[in-house]
Amino acid sequence: MSATRWQVPVTALRRAVGARQREERTGTLGELRVVETRVPADAVTSVEVVLSAVVGGIEVVGTVGSTWRGVCRRCLRPIGGSIVAPVRELYRPGGGDDDTYPLGGDQLDLEPLARDALLLGLPLAPLCREDCRGLCPRCGAELADGPCACGPEPADARWAALDGLRSDPGAGGLPPPVGNG
Ligand SMILES: [Zn+2]
Ligand SMILES: [Zn+2]
Repeated sequence: MSATRWQVPVTALRRAVGARQREERTGTLGELRVVETRVPADAVTSVEVVLSAVVGGIEVVGTVGSTWRGVCRRCLRPIGGSIVAPVRELYRPGGGDDDTYPLGGDQLDLEPLARDALLLGLPLAPLCREDCRGLCPRCGAELADGPCACGPEPADARWAALDGLRSDPGAGGLPPPVGNG
């Protein structure tokens, strides 16, 4: 991958407030990972933006698209999908703080914008499907494949034990009422 793939020449644009310049770039960014979810190192990322010369800098508006891979948070099945992250950011000389990106010389670097947009766009707790039933907590079977051999949920056993306590007079609670005779 070329180091200049994400560099946009902006000399002319910077001289004309109000001017616009459309840019489309594609390439790889290296792996971007948040916990178990990642943009793989070989994923092709596309940046489609319009650069607008504004007073004090260049505004970049558009989308960053790529693909992600991860695991379902319930059943741990490997899954993946696409990301299309909207961007609206300001580049300005001396920038590079939380709100802006740096603009130096005659090149605008789209790479940090693309990386940030994808990191923000990664699903942190993805599901293979909305109603994924996850894994049996006891045997680890995928419940999407049907009930496992473990029988009723453990919760049932706990409630049954409580019911047993309630109906057992020797297990505490108030003594039986005594008449005033
Ligand atoms: Zn799942
Ligand atoms: Zn089970």
